[in-house]
Amino acid sequence: MRVMLMPDIHAPLTIADAQRAVDQWIRTIGVRYFSPLTNMAVLAEECGEVARVIARTDGEQSAKPGERLDLADELADLLWVTMAIANQHGIDLTEAFARNLEKKSTRDATRHRDNPRLSETQAN
Ligand SMILES: [Mg+2]
Repeated sequence: MRVMLMPDIHAPLTIADAQRAVDQWIRTIGVRYFSPLTNMAVLAEECGEVARVIARTDGEQSAKPGERLDLADELADLLWVTMAIANQHGIDLTEAFARNLEKKSTRDATRHRDNPRLSETQAN
């Protein structure tokens, strides 16, 4: 197994690589996994941080002087804790994502195309 604590940011990174990197980091630098309940709280916290940035960059909220608004970093935090939760539950996110995409592609094959509200306005 490759240890990827500091992956080359220019090299392709698979979901499995990222899950392994999160696992290696947690087991070494992070000492151990937080409990599933703590990770659930962290997931909600990071979701709120994403919302905070978008409320200020896309919404009507204003940033405080000097406030750092880094959506990419907050989304990476969200991805990180998602992978930590998947790891501690033995979930292979590559497989789960593929199954989820297949489900969305069959179940929702025409749902959005047939939604007149989606063709009425442009979101961004
Ligand atoms: Mg964050």
